[in-house]
Amino acid sequence: MNISVLGATGSIGTQTLDVVRKCLPNARVRVLTGNANVPLLAALTDEFRPDMVWVPDGARAIELEKLLQHKGVKTEILTGDDELIACAVHDPVEVVVNALVGKAGLSPTLAAIRAGKDIALANKESLVTAGGLIMGLARDNNVRIVPIDSEHSAILQCLQGKLTGNDVGVEKIILTASGGPFRTWPQEHIAAATAADALRHPNWTMGPKITIDSATLMNKGLELIEAMWLFGQPMENIEILVHPQSIIHSMVQFIDGAIMAQMGTPDMRLPILYALAGPDRVSNNYPRLDFLTTKDLTFEAPDMKRFPCLALAKHAADVGGTLPAVMNAVNEWAVGRYLNNKIDFYGISALIAEAFDSYTVKEVNDIADIHEAEAWAMEFVNLMGTA
Ligand code: NDP
Ligand code: MG
Repeated sequence: MNISVLGATGSIGTQTLDVVRKCLPNARVRVLTGNANVPLLAALTDEFRPDMVWVPDGARAIELEKLLQHKGVKTEILTGDDELIACAVHDPVEVVVNALVGKAGLSPTLAAIRAGKDIALANKESLVTAGGLIMGLARDNNVRIVPIDSEHSAILQCLQGKLTGNDVGVEKIILTASGGPFRTWPQEHIAAATAADALRHPNWTMGPKITIDSATLMNKGLELIEAMWLFGQPMENIEILVHPQSIIHSMVQFIDGAIMAQMGTPDMRLPILYALAGPDRVSNNYPRLDFLTTKDLTFEAPDMKRFPCLALAKHAADVGGTLPAVMNAVNEWAVGRYLNNKIDFYGISALIAEAFDSYTVKEVNDIADIHEAEAWAMEFVNLMGTA
């Protein structure tokens, strides 16, 4: 299997390469992309010897070239937006792992599908903004969109590898959520929480953007929309259930009342492995779950008052059209501001709510509609940011 790893230097990217190293001896990494972490990208390029490697600009390309000097690496170094697309469609590649963060992930996803590549998708933002386009294109090009997100991998595993639940008697999907680091905090403490507080996630170590999304519960909202598109289910059929231990990664309830749950340690390498090898099972030495030392498994309803981002995402899911793209873009910008201590925790949801009030939703017919919605969102946040 030939794979490309977009976002190779990130949390999912590096774990994907760990899976390749330890579990998939027949996988060949043909493309790697990075962004700011050039030293890591250089080390990975030296190790995997891909055909091509990508960084955003010429300055980083020069830095990378210097680091690879004298290593005898023949990898071509590419830069710029068009060349990122070239990475997504590289001929020998069968599976594109999209581990880019945020809206940067959409164009490569669409290009890879058009080129007939299967997608192992971590970049949930692609599906949130353009789920209809992606799933339609995937059908037309006979391409599989396999989720890396642990909850969606769990659902897929409960469905025995089938991407649609309609022919196997699904009654509802139960999407579990850890509740994030502020699950038990009173609202006034959450209001004063810093980015450093939010970055201390109880169960998972992830990139900064998704860690903040987990603290606001926007991540669960994005995952709700992701699940609707991936599994063709209406919002009413997807229940969000807080399960603080992150042992049950999600469940499917069938029309006879039976429920399948997928469990395991909170280790992203397992869903990554399933995305690349599933429905086959591949043995590995990753840590196992020990039920005797596992404390209680508990469940509670999400609190949309303390976590208004979840309510906003449900609204966007319900309205549809270009609204999820606007929400996603405003959220990404606001999370960046929060990470830089420029706005407070509830500033994120307040900004999204204001955007919703000012925006006129449109239908999504093609990618231009998404780009227009994102451009509107950027204009909106720039106005708000300088107000
Ligand atoms: P990280 O921030 O750790 O990694 C993001 C990757 O994308 C890095 O390789 C980064 O390069 C690169 N990158 C960042 N900005 C750009 C850009 N503008 N253009 C091109 N490349 C860029 O994120 P995660 O790995 O945590 O998340 C990736 C995706 O996976 C997200 O959509 C997230 O929601 C999803 N996901 C993540 C999970 C996790 O456990 N981490 C779990 C489930 C889903 P560099 O680091 O060199 O700057
Ligand atoms: Mg998840």
